[in-house]
Amino acid sequence: MSAKILDGTSIASDIRREVASEVKAMAAAGVRPGLAVVLVGHNPASEVYVRGKVKACEEVGIYSEQHAPSEDISTAVLLELIHDLNRRDEIDGILIQLPLPPQVDSKKVLFAVDPAKDVDGFHPVNVGFLSTQRPGLVPCTPAGVIEILRRSQIVIAGQEAVVVGRSDIVGKPAAMLLINASATVTVCHSKTHDLSGVCRRADILIAAIGRAGMIRRDFVKPGATVIDVGMNQVTSPNEFERLFAGNAKREQTFRSKGSTLAGDVHPEVAEVAGALTPVPGGVGPLTIAMLMSNTVKAARMRRGDRVRELSSK
Ligand code: NDP
Repeated sequence: MSAKILDGTSIASDIRREVASEVKAMAAAGVRPGLAVVLVGHNPASEVYVRGKVKACEEVGIYSEQHAPSEDISTAVLLELIHDLNRRDEIDGILIQLPLPPQVDSKKVLFAVDPAKDVDGFHPVNVGFLSTQRPGLVPCTPAGVIEILRRSQIVIAGQEAVVVGRSDIVGKPAAMLLINASATVTVCHSKTHDLSGVCRRADILIAAIGRAGMIRRDFVKPGATVIDVGMNQVTSPNEFERLFAGNAKREQTFRSKGSTLAGDVHPEVAEVAGALTPVPGGVGPLTIAMLMSNTVKAARMRRGDRVRELSSK
């Protein structure tokens, strides 16, 4: 048996198309959703992510602006910037690219974002909305996981779901979304006993760990759906062998770039699972698509009746 590969790139482009047409419809009501991205300092990985987000905004017609304060900014000055963005009506979403430099009080800064503009869904008010099933802004990556399941017609209600990872950004909100979708949910972490045994109960297994290829064949019930959130750069040749021996295409990338992107799920799982998201090309593309979707949602929720009436038509 070989798992059905769930194509995140194609699902993400469907979502972007839907967002673009919603943005077009909002323009008729005189509203253009706007996203402000705050990137402190010069972290090369963060710069790549931010470029991707700004480009995605352009493609779907969302206004975007970038703020790039210097690496040595203080918490107080950064808070002024956030307050200013909170006040500006044409800004619907505020995204603060993490990590922030050590002298900045990250929690204070994230909590200063107006919950109505918190397109990352990290503010405790949005966390509360999610856990009480009220309309709010949901973190992009877990929201993307649910979109993949829904759009691939994978039944969630009544299914046994296991989430490995309990971070505030991925594991916990993913578990909450699955509970809200009526799955029976177990959350695992580094202290879980018999991890493989617990994972083997899952009809839907979500891996959000940050350890390349940790989920092996014996963790997976035959036929289960496996969603791999992990994004790990593999640079060691031994590690590469453990994961991708015999994969000529990967080998070429690894040889030329000196690294390759691996998920938390070992490729051998494709022989047992019923459906599986690849890395790259699985959950990753959904994260930006859901950011676009959240920005439009934030605009709709915040900018009054004109847009609400329009979008209900
Ligand atoms: P964190 O490091 O915040 O959380 C990792 C979780 O995995 C923790 O709960 C930890 O347990 C658990 N864990 C670590 N080791 C083990 C183990 N040996 N057995 C069981 N559980 C373990 O990571 P994130 O949630 O931020 O990210 C997880 C992965 O998802 C990373 O690879 C990250 O790069 C990727 N990611 C991908 C995104 C995308 O767009 N596709 C977006 C965000 C993240 P404990 O709490 O006990 O320490």
